[in-house]
Amino acid sequence: MTSKNGLPASLNQTNSDAYPVPPFERQKQPFPGLASKMNPRPDHGETSYKGSGRLAGRKALITGGDSGIGRAVAIAYAREGADVVINYLPEEEEDAQEVIKLIKEAGRKAVAIPGDIREESFCQNLVKQAAEQLGGLDILVNNAGRQQYHESIKDLSTEDFDATFKTNVYAMFWITKAALDHLPRGATIVNTTSVQAYQPSDILLDYSQTKAAIVAFTKSLAKQLGPQGIRVNAVAPGPYWTALQCCGGQPQEKVEQFGATAPLGRPGQPAEIAPLYVTLASQESTYTSGQVWCSDGGTGTL
Ligand code: NAD
Ligand code: MG
Repeated sequence: MTSKNGLPASLNQTNSDAYPVPPFERQKQPFPGLASKMNPRPDHGETSYKGSGRLAGRKALITGGDSGIGRAVAIAYAREGADVVINYLPEEEEDAQEVIKLIKEAGRKAVAIPGDIREESFCQNLVKQAAEQLGGLDILVNNAGRQQYHESIKDLSTEDFDATFKTNVYAMFWITKAALDHLPRGATIVNTTSVQAYQPSDILLDYSQTKAAIVAFTKSLAKQLGPQGIRVNAVAPGPYWTALQCCGGQPQEKVEQFGATAPLGRPGQPAEIAPLYVTLASQESTYTSGQVWCSDGGTGTL
């Protein structure tokens, strides 16, 4: 198929004009936010992602799989032939059910396990149930995240600091530890860090620290698990258009201009980052471990 400028439609997707550009309308949602209530709705690859068997027969657990980057990864994994368990918070059931439907439409097994990963016992149960339902586990995507901005360290409460570390760091540790009872040789772990690990914003003091911790965790664990044939990598997104930003991740004036400073002039859409997670999980990247792959619209920082 060709478009107006004569280029193949697929090539035009790299054109900045193919996706929404700022300014966006202000849109505050209560945490954890719903993709279905965003305007414009994020593109998670629902109508565009085409699989080619790159993850045939694989069994994946994806945290935060209801919306945003996790949803795009769930859709891509299912269309590449994997069975998928998604975890999310109970308030996100509506978003989660859309994902479950899409995984099933791809002809794969879809399992929804809602629950709060700030609890160690829930994390252990999540992994156990996921492995039971899928008959094993060979891909773990630690993607759930909490980002709530605070202008000053003085406004950042111990409760907030704790919730961010529990969600972004402790849960990754607990879930990964439990998953190691199931992950065979050849399995892969993909964590979601952020450009915030390297270029922390003034208003994301706690969040940026957790993202730096995820980088160190990824590199350390890759060394530890290499001899067992298990690879560990991370993806570092720049500004991506997801519910995370609208439900307290950024002040509304920044939501309005979200992605404006990226060289591509707009935020990324979740569909644009899922291919990194596919490649890192697939058997095409068997010599890649301990790496952080960035997608941030062109700064060249990482
Ligand atoms: P999102 O809001 O769509 O996804 C985050 C998910 O985390 C939520 O859907 C929710 O299910 C889950 N979550 C949060 N707290 C939880 C808890 N206590 N228990 C269980 N699940 C919980 O937003 P997203 O942007 O797709 O976020 C995915 C990952 O990407 C996060 O780790 C985030 O830090 C990271 N990230 C996002 C951006 C961006 O600009 N959107 C940039 C860099 C990194
Ligand atoms: Mg969500």
